Amino acid sequence: MKRSADVIITGAGPAGAATALLLARAGVDVLLLDRAPFPRPKPCGDCLSIGATAVLDRLGILDPLLAARHARLRGWRIVAPNGSAFHAPFSRQSDVGTASLRGRALSVERSVLDALILDAAIMAGARIERQAVTELVRDSHGCVTGVLTRAGTYTAAITVGADGLRSIVAMRLGAVAAAGSLRKLSLTWHLPVQDADLTGEMHTGDGICAGLAPIAQDGVCNITIVANAARFGRTVAHDPAAFAHSAIESLPRLRGRVPLTALRSATPLASGPFDRPVRRVAFDGAVLVGDAAGYYDPFTGQGVYQALASAELLAPAVEMALRTGNCRSGAFRQYAHERTALLRGPRFVQRGIEFILCRPALANRAIARIRRAPDFGRAIISVTGDIAPARALLSRRALSGLLFAPTLPENSA
Ligand SMILES: Cc1cc2nc3c(=O)[nH]c(=O)nc-3n(C[C@H](O)[C@H](O)[C@H](O)COP(=O)(O)OP(=O)(O)OC[C@H]3O[C@@H](n4cnc5c(N)ncnc54)[C@H](O)[C@@H]3O)c2cc1C
Repeated sequence: MKRSADVIITGAGPAGAATALLLARAGVDVLLLDRAPFPRPKPCGDCLSIGATAVLDRLGILDPLLAARHARLRGWRIVAPNGSAFHAPFSRQSDVGTASLRGRALSVERSVLDALILDAAIMAGARIERQAVTELVRDSHGCVTGVLTRAGTYTAAITVGADGLRSIVAMRLGAVAAAGSLRKLSLTWHLPVQDADLTGEMHTGDGICAGLAPIAQDGVCNITIVANAARFGRTVAHDPAAFAHSAIESLPRLRGRVPLTALRSATPLASGPFDRPVRRVAFDGAVLVGDAAGYYDPFTGQGVYQALASAELLAPAVEMALRTGNCRSGAFRQYAHERTALLRGPRFVQRGIEFILCRPALANRAIARIRRAPDFGRAIISVTGDIAPARALLSRRALSGLLFAPTLPENSA
């Protein structure tokens, strides 16, 4: 049978398209298969961490992105369930660890971002076809040799699974572990929001949180509500706009800023659950990247950074495997180790934050203390912004600020 390409990539989101771009630039024959027509919407908070924009810059996509509709974030405001808040601006130099908060944190609608990365991959020589992958094809030794779609079989030396949170490739490889313990769902709208400036906002509440980020200079914001699925799943299914409105009204600093009529005027993008543990990412003839390789939580999970940075790790491994003719799982071992090292710290921090957030009284106390310890606040924003390792939270300066935080007057938020 004639080979369809050297490499088939299922999924043309940031992980798949960035991998395709890097491989195509290296002269590899790459075929992307995606079930959706691009540009396509994607449930997301639409925020790009400073780490993510740095990768986009390396890929040569930052300039086209800056020419497209976007907003440049000035910092983040994290609001506790009782309304107290800490604010971490990006403009001040941080000397926490090696982190610099100078850099570009942007917000941009995913339909725009993903199409730009895909366009760059196509310009570099990658091909794309609109096909939904349903199955993997294997040889008599169990090595993956391609994928099956309704249009037929596509064969390649290497198959990359970049098909997102509910990856069919990961499932067919038997890579998905038991369902994750974190059961959350999300609803996303793009709407004008009262009193929104260029600061991203994260409002935490009892079993819910809401992220707000401008996606353009005209006041249109991404508003994403994430909720505990066990508690709120039925209510959300019954009337998503009414649920979102009551969630917004329960958050002290969001109350009154998004009318129900605005929420009813558009259909939200829904997603969840997110916690999807994956046991392995490297297989004979196949490898996983992006959300397909496992995801935890969108609250701090800068998934786009992780997708792009993993693509940068994967592309050289794929290239080498093609060059040596060894496409067995061992050829992707180093990629697997590097990816684990990349994600270990952020996942640890995410779990710590999740532990605090699902206990509103603890979240109130934690945010009140961080408000009095700006170095620690900046360290959190640096770590979750993908520009500092998780150990920056343990630096002497960050920790001593936290432990010996001065008392502030009540009204100084
Ligand atoms: C509510 C929410 C908010 C988030 N907010 C942020 C944020 O603000 N910032 C951030 O950095 N990250 C955020 N994330 C995470 C981020 O969206 C993901 O980590 C990122 O999209 C992963 O990229 P990917 O390329 O792996 O997958 P995706 O972007 O999901 O792309 C997968 C692609 O695969 C295609 N596909 C799926 N199945 C098949 C199939 N069978 N055949 C062919 N094609 C297929 C899909 O059509 C899609 O185009 C958020 C996630 C959620 C759910």
